Amino acid sequence: MDETEKVQILSDLVAIHTANDNEKEIAEYLQNLFSNYGIEVKMIKYSDTRYNLVAEIGNGKPVLAVSGHMDTVSAGDINQWNTDPYKLTEKSGNLYGLGAVDMKSGLAALVIAMIELHENKLPKTGTVRLLATIAEEVGEYGADQLTSQGYMDDVDALLIGEPGGYNFVYTHMGSLDIRVTSEGKTAHSSMPKSGNNAIDHLLDFLHQANKQFKNTGKSDPVMGDFIFNVTTINGGTQVNAIPGHAEAEINSRTLPEYTSDQVLTNLQKIINKLNSENDDYHLDVKVIMKLNPVKASDHSKLLNVASQVAKEHTGLDVGKYGVAGTTDAAMFLRNKPDDFAFVMFGPGNDTPHQVNEYVNKEMYLKFIDMYKDIFVKYL
Ligand SMILES: [Zn+2]
Repeated sequence: MDETEKVQILSDLVAIHTANDNEKEIAEYLQNLFSNYGIEVKMIKYSDTRYNLVAEIGNGKPVLAVSGHMDTVSAGDINQWNTDPYKLTEKSGNLYGLGAVDMKSGLAALVIAMIELHENKLPKTGTVRLLATIAEEVGEYGADQLTSQGYMDDVDALLIGEPGGYNFVYTHMGSLDIRVTSEGKTAHSSMPKSGNNAIDHLLDFLHQANKQFKNTGKSDPVMGDFIFNVTTINGGTQVNAIPGHAEAEINSRTLPEYTSDQVLTNLQKIINKLNSENDDYHLDVKVIMKLNPVKASDHSKLLNVASQVAKEHTGLDVGKYGVAGTTDAAMFLRNKPDDFAFVMFGPGNDTPHQVNEYVNKEMYLKFIDMYKDIFVKYL
């Protein structure tokens, strides 16, 4: 494939609207593309509009799984875009568009690398298995489904093409979303005694929770400090009524040293204490989403091969890091040991989830070549 074709594929992917839905259209596009080169795929249905895609080249063991998600976040305020978010636009070496960096370029680079290897009858041993997922941005349902259906069972190493740029991420925090509700009793605000103020009780809880969880001292040497934040709050109906209901949502970034279950146990303790000490408190907690932290080896064969290849192509000694953000690896690696071979490595910069998102064209093209070398050398 020449450069124009490689950019055209990315352009085609950006043109397909996949903000938290409609990944079926990308899956069909990729199915078509792969079949033009004699590569068969499996379409795995999640819902009428959402399909994951699995494609393989090569044969037998070892199995290297490579993954990219097909969804994007929403475009945000269209007026703040300098270009049409759905039309890949080149400006001074950068390609602008929604999902250009997170992560349609990473996905396209994985796909093109597989096609070009297959054309050259590579790899000679082992399998590259693409797991293209739905819903990474919200819920990681695709990675969950593929893992449940066994697509990770025989996998020896996992590479995710998320937009880290010339950095290796091999470990990342988990993410825990919860909703805390407070039930009270509505009353006219001139007669507070006949009501029960749900907001006051919720605030009491949030105050205690913040005090405890903002200062846990829990930390991971690679990933950093445990993170806890109240992120939404709602309650009451009008200014002259005692609120009968209030709720808040909280996001925590969890660590192997401080897991979601430990956080939940400690939150529940605060709630139990408040409810039992105060007859009129009715606080409750519900888990919305729970993703485990990913702890992987910092000296796996995959990482070593990737370091070597990156050095050859970029001249850089690419560093290895841990980050707070989560990826589909939280689902893919849920049954794998802590020393599993995982790396996140894909064309990147600091524009994901922002207007005027872009990917550097040269970096995108370089990743295609690096992926080809990594796949073959690893296998
Ligand atoms: Zn992403």
